[in-house]
Amino acid sequence: MDVIVVGAGPAGSTAAKAVAEKGYSVTVYEKGPLKREKPCGGGVSDRVVKEFGLEHADTFWDRFCQGIFLCSPQNRTVVLVDKAGGKGYLVMREKFDYFLVEKARKAGVKFVENTYAEPFLKDEKIHGIKTKEEVIESDIVIACDGTPSSFARKLGIYSGNDYNQAAAYQYQMKMDNTEIDEKIGDNMEIYFGHQWAPYGYSWIFPKNGTVTVGNGTWLYALKKCKATLKKLLDTFIQEHPVASEKLENAEIMYPQSAMIGFTGVANPLYLDNFMVAGDAAGFVSVPTGEGIYYSMVSGAAAGEVAAEAVQRRDTSRTVLKKYKKRVDEKIGTDMKWGYWLRRLVMDKEKNQEQLIRASLRDEWIYDMTGRLIGGDIGYKQFMINYLLRPDKVFRLLWG
Ligand SMILES: Cc1cc2nc3c(=O)[nH]c(=O)nc-3n(C[C@H](O)[C@H](O)[C@H](O)COP(=O)(O)OP(=O)(O)OC[C@H]3O[C@@H](n4cnc5c(N)ncnc54)[C@H](O)[C@@H]3O)c2cc1C
Repeated sequence: MDVIVVGAGPAGSTAAKAVAEKGYSVTVYEKGPLKREKPCGGGVSDRVVKEFGLEHADTFWDRFCQGIFLCSPQNRTVVLVDKAGGKGYLVMREKFDYFLVEKARKAGVKFVENTYAEPFLKDEKIHGIKTKEEVIESDIVIACDGTPSSFARKLGIYSGNDYNQAAAYQYQMKMDNTEIDEKIGDNMEIYFGHQWAPYGYSWIFPKNGTVTVGNGTWLYALKKCKATLKKLLDTFIQEHPVASEKLENAEIMYPQSAMIGFTGVANPLYLDNFMVAGDAAGFVSVPTGEGIYYSMVSGAAAGEVAAEAVQRRDTSRTVLKKYKKRVDEKIGTDMKWGYWLRRLVMDKEKNQEQLIRASLRDEWIYDMTGRLIGGDIGYKQFMINYLLRPDKVFRLLWG
């Protein structure tokens, strides 16, 4: 086989599709069933649909997202509405991920579910995967096994450090659509405040007859405040002055929890015959937690480079290093600048408060905040726009 992809999330399906589209054989091995609900808020930015040509998006989304509602630590609220007509989509991951699987299948990708994959090594290099039953050899393996990537770790690739380990906890809650429309509308809701999620944030994402309510933060922050995410989320649902009223009739269906790949980008991203993409490689936005877009961008880049390498009959790191160059060009600045933004916004309640206050008072800041969170502009561009407008920096910080 030419290429094996490990993991059938957004990164894996996108990587495999890119390989198949160039005419090479590719199989995705997924440890679980292909149809299953993953812990995720399900916010999919508009650029995912545009850049990946996801036509018939109406078959996978539960709600079209019109805006982003932000609530400050002192309960000031603002709804950032996109003047251009929409911020993205609110999806249940079972449907969304399976949509990507089907799209990849149409391109010629084979999927094998319920099969756990481990690296198969020969002469200290990876040459395929081992499952419980067999060894399957391939020219290239792309690990898209989510965070933390046990596959990459077995090859000695780690990302991040203890400071950057983060986790999220959420409930899928049943809520009447009429009540969702009335109280939440078609907005992704984000709540700041260390009391509810220290150094992180809480969210309410409306779907069709359900809402996803969760919180996430860094493990060091939880340790510092001696709290668990579950306890903080329960308190948020029951006591938050704004959110508790909206959720008063919502019923918990089931909880979900997972790590978030805020661990920093893996180094290296490739070896001979091997690449790592998506959450497994640490491609997640640190300020917003958006990971679907970044996993698909990195997956596509890995798939394209894999196809080129197979065509050249050279799958060594000399050829695969192109992968790093391509992801760096496309999302490298977001990964680097994201940490600065996080330090500016997430770490200090004062700054969260000020961001929302300034967005309410100043149309330019309002527009910039909406474009940043909605993914319309990258973090570097956001910072540059401010550097070019010192008056707005002043307004943002002190106005
Ligand atoms: C609570 C929470 C909320 C989030 N909300 C959002 C959001 O609203 N919007 C957004 O953009 N991002 C969100 N994210 C991040 C987003 O979920 C991830 O960035 C995205 O799923 C990454 O896709 P991926 O394909 O890299 O990995 P995953 O989606 O994690 O897929 C990895 C796949 O690999 C499989 N696998 C793992 N190990 C093996 C193995 N050894 N063999 C075979 N298969 C294996 C897993 O079963 C899984 O299916 C959220 C994350 C969390 C935890």
